[in-house]
Amino acid sequence: MSTAADNRAITAPNGIIPLINLVSPRHSDSWTHTRNGDNRGYIDADSLSELWIHTGTACNLACPFCLEGSKPGDTRLPAMSLEMLKPFIHEAVDMGVKQFSFTGGEPFVIRDFVNILDYASQHKPCFVLTNGTRVLTQRAHQLLPLKNNAYPISFRISLDYPDATRHDAGRGEGSFAESLDSIKWLQENGFKVSIARQMELNEDSAAVESIYCRIFEQHGIAEKLPFTAFPDFGTPGTEDGSPEVTTNCMEKYPTRESRSHFMCTYTRMLVNTAKGVRVYACTLVDDDPDYDLGSTLSESMKARIMLRHHRCFSCYKFGASCSAPA
Ligand code: SF4
Repeated sequence: MSTAADNRAITAPNGIIPLINLVSPRHSDSWTHTRNGDNRGYIDADSLSELWIHTGTACNLACPFCLEGSKPGDTRLPAMSLEMLKPFIHEAVDMGVKQFSFTGGEPFVIRDFVNILDYASQHKPCFVLTNGTRVLTQRAHQLLPLKNNAYPISFRISLDYPDATRHDAGRGEGSFAESLDSIKWLQENGFKVSIARQMELNEDSAAVESIYCRIFEQHGIAEKLPFTAFPDFGTPGTEDGSPEVTTNCMEKYPTRESRSHFMCTYTRMLVNTAKGVRVYACTLVDDDPDYDLGSTLSESMKARIMLRHHRCFSCYKFGASCSAPA
């Protein structure tokens, strides 16, 4: 799961990270109050509709901008296994979850991943974020039987820019072409596909996406694919100098419906840690242990989530969500 470092869309307005954020990162700040002493903005959960599963930070690529800091052999978050997950899958189903979603690292480098996907897709629809390189097509023979399961599996492939050279500069030579091959294979075999791309400051989104569409046509990918554009979230443990979110700021989202665009109202993410599998608030905060909300999904949904992480500001500003496009 990666975003490009050269996009400064959510950094401090002047592009300079305040010194205080560098010498004293905000994860050491008060959970309830901002540095100015204002009450921090917060989210109370609604109901669990999507459960994210972090498969671990190991990846076949080593993109310098990866928001998870993933790379080959990385163990910041160890690999997940099916046996660890089963109790959570059942708890989530009992709580009415509508979808299981997977991110990494790169899920397809995890040995047990296809077994996990097989089990999960017998219970609810599944959604997989992947870089779509050869690690996916190498396991094509394992994926095909999963089409017979009760629920569908869809995929979101990362294609940072509609430009192979620029994409490959971050992800490695040949990765753009490999991802196009995966998109084509998935489509031809009846899986739904969407694209994760990088959002650039003041971009013309329609123009950017039309360039992708031309590339897809040239590659024999006929169907129009949905896009999700992400801002730069920074690498784990870094600061981007974005403003703090106070309770006053949250008046912009006064209703339950308007707050539902914050992922932490309706999702949780499972992470394998030294303490066992833990439930985190969302996909963007696993570098801060204060967002560890417990060892069960039901207890995690009772926790009030303070918007202290610098990535919370991108949710506030852009409505950033890792979920599948409608
Ligand atoms: S990053 Fe976004 S979804 Fe995650 S805790 Fe902060 S506001 Fe909620």
